[in-house]
Amino acid sequence: MLPKGRSSGTGTGSSSHSPGDASHMSAGRGRGSARGRGGHGGGGGADGRAGSAKGKVYAPELTFSLCDYPGEPSCVVFFSGCNFDCGYCQNWRLKKQSPDQLADLREIEEALRRNTLITACKVSGGEPLLQPKALAELASCARSLGLKFGVDTNGSRPTELGSLIPILDLVSVDVKTKLDDREYRRITGVSLPRAEDVRKTLATVIASGAYADLRMVVIPGYNDTRDVAESIGGDLRSMGYIEKAGKGGASFTLVEFVPENAEGEGFRKLSPPPVERLKQIACWLGIPRVMIRHRSLGFMVPA
Ligand code: SF4
Repeated sequence: MLPKGRSSGTGTGSSSHSPGDASHMSAGRGRGSARGRGGHGGGGGADGRAGSAKGKVYAPELTFSLCDYPGEPSCVVFFSGCNFDCGYCQNWRLKKQSPDQLADLREIEEALRRNTLITACKVSGGEPLLQPKALAELASCARSLGLKFGVDTNGSRPTELGSLIPILDLVSVDVKTKLDDREYRRITGVSLPRAEDVRKTLATVIASGAYADLRMVVIPGYNDTRDVAESIGGDLRSMGYIEKAGKGGASFTLVEFVPENAEGEGFRKLSPPPVERLKQIACWLGIPRVMIRHRSLGFMVPA
């Protein structure tokens, strides 16, 4: 869901899986900063030989962001490859993996180690859970450095998520529409999206100790109806969302769809949803802690 045009670090162009800052770089080249993250350990020094032999990962981009990990300045690592084919995708350049996107995990870890301004690391995509081993290694490194660690997911990989959840501080789950195979097919562009997997993912995150950062990109004509909102709200209530949100452990963000960043031509012709529509959907959801992300308002503003 990476926008074709980069969004601002403090703006709202960042949708799910999207970067929030123009200071991105190739992960394979390292950060180039002379500053070190002292005193956190993490398996080695700044000479690039830390951590012994580690694997490669399809992760072509890395960026600094103020709006991808709520409340934390973060480093966002973009894993490529996705099992969905959403026409509205803002990160369409990361849908497919290619050899030139392969990066060395050690170099990404070194970038985390050197950046003393960040307090969190977030992995976005693409679908990061398609590369669970690399994700686990990165999570382990980030936590050893004292960083919070979060991941974006489209919800299709509940088994992989279940294995990783104990080491995640935050999970951002895309709720693309009501949890129904037919509706999911319409948005994701694949024949077997299995809404049941998304349901399992949501239940896993809500039952966990990780922050449940749920969000839906609101696309006019696709998922902006009362029926969709009430269905999602009902499902989340049955999973324990209200209790978790009551403890400050969950929120649901309605994200403005930005047509000019979409991959599909049909989606680029749509109009973005006005703030009033997002507020109306927030009411229909019938759940607490609903936020709005809209260019005219800000990153995460209470609805
Ligand atoms: S889940 Fe959809 S929107 Fe997200 S990266 Fe994959 S294709 Fe793009």
